[in-house]
Amino acid sequence: MENVTCTFCGAVCDDLYFDGDEFRTKDFCPLGEAKFSRKKRIEYPTIDGKKVSYEEAVERAAEILHNSKRPLLFGWSSTVNEAIRLGVILAEKVRGIYDQCASVCHAPSVLAMIEEGIASGSLGQIKNRTDLAIFWGCNPVEAHPRHPTRYSVMARGLLTKGRADRKVVVVDVRKTVSALMASHFIQVKPGTDYLVFSAMRALMEGYEDAVPEEVGGVRKEKLIEFVEMIKSAKYITILFGLGIAHTRGHDRNVENVIKLVQLINRYTRCILQPMRGHFNVVGAGEVAAWECGFEWAVDFSRGYPRFAPSEFTGVEALLRKDCDAALIVASDPAAHFPRAAVEQLKRIPVIQIDPFPNMTTLLSKVVIPCAISGIEAEGTAYRMDGVPIRVKKVVESEYWSDEEILEKMLEKVLKLRED
Ligand code: SF4
Repeated sequence: MENVTCTFCGAVCDDLYFDGDEFRTKDFCPLGEAKFSRKKRIEYPTIDGKKVSYEEAVERAAEILHNSKRPLLFGWSSTVNEAIRLGVILAEKVRGIYDQCASVCHAPSVLAMIEEGIASGSLGQIKNRTDLAIFWGCNPVEAHPRHPTRYSVMARGLLTKGRADRKVVVVDVRKTVSALMASHFIQVKPGTDYLVFSAMRALMEGYEDAVPEEVGGVRKEKLIEFVEMIKSAKYITILFGLGIAHTRGHDRNVENVIKLVQLINRYTRCILQPMRGHFNVVGAGEVAAWECGFEWAVDFSRGYPRFAPSEFTGVEALLRKDCDAALIVASDPAAHFPRAAVEQLKRIPVIQIDPFPNMTTLLSKVVIPCAISGIEAEGTAYRMDGVPIRVKKVVESEYWSDEEILEKMLEKVLKLRED
C-alpha cells in the first residue's frame, strides 16, 4: 500500500510503502521499519497468567476499575485519539487519575507554553520557509531520522530549495551525530541553557556590556555571531528536545527560549517546535484537553477534573501510594518509571492493554492484547506540530483495537455503576 503512515515517532511520516502480506517496507527509517516488522506479540488475553476470552478479561478489568478508590489510567501516547477519548471518559467515570507519557517527557515544555504561549508553525512551513534551522538539546538523526530529510535540513521546499539554502546550527552538551549535518556546532556546558538564552536575549536587545566574556562555556564573540546570524535570517525554526526540557531549569528553560523567540520576531520571523517522541503523544494531551481542559496529571477523584503536575502524574501518585489499581495503555511504565514507583505498581492490580509484551506485562494481573494502531487498526493521531493525520489499517487482524476494548470496558463500568 502506498502513502502508509508510520506510527512510531512524532514525525508521523505519511509517504511510505508497506506490503501488508509480505511485511515489506520502502522509505521507512530504521526505527519505523522495526515497528512495521513481524515481532513477538501478546497472543491472547490473560488473567493471572491464565488464558481467557476477551469478554472475560474486559469484564475483570472493569470490576477492578469499578472497585478501586482511585485508579491510575496511564500511557496513551502510542494509540489513536479515538481510544484516548474513551480513556479520559473512563478516568472520569471511575474517579481516577488520567496521566500520559508526556508527564515523564515534554511536560515542562507544555507548562511553559501554558504560561507564555508559543510562536509555532507546521512542519510544512518549516520545509517551505526555514533558512536557519537550530536544533537545541535534541538529536533528530537518531530520534526522528526522517525529520531532517523530509522537513528541516535537506528538504526541498517552496521558498527554501534544499540544504544549500539552509544554515543549520546544532546546540548541545556533546557532539551528537546530528552535529555532523550542521554548518555550526555550539557546545554548551550541561545545565546552562537558561544562561545562554538569557545572554542571547541581552545581545538581541543590544545590552552587550551585560554579557560576560563566557556564558555556559560559549565565548561572547561566538554568541554575538550567532545572534547576528539569527537577525539576518528570513525564517528561523528552533527545534528543541529534552536537553532543554529535562535539564536544570526545566520549564523555565523553555519559557526563556519562548521569550527569545518572541524577541527574535521583532526583527525577523521565528518559530519554536518541540521534538515530540511517541507518534501520538500530542494527541494524548490534546484529546484530554478537549475533554476536560487539561493535558495530563488530571485527577477526577472529586468528580471534576483537577490539574496538578506535582501531585497527579503517574510517578507522583504511585510514589505516594495514592492509587490502588492501574490501567496501562500503549506504554511500558515498568521499564521507565523510577524503581519505587514500579514497586508500587507491583503491589496493586494492573491491567495492561498493549500489542507487545514488555516489562509491564510481567507485573500485570489482566493482560489484553490489542491490534497495532496504524497497522491493524485505523484512527487519527496528532503529529508533533499538532496537525491531525489519519492512520490506516493495512493488515487484517483478529485482535480487538484499543478503541473496541475501551468501549466495552466503559460499557461494563457504567453497567456496574448502575447495579
Ligand atoms: S521518522 Fe519517525 S515517523 Fe518517520 S519513518 Fe522514522 S520512525 Fe516513522
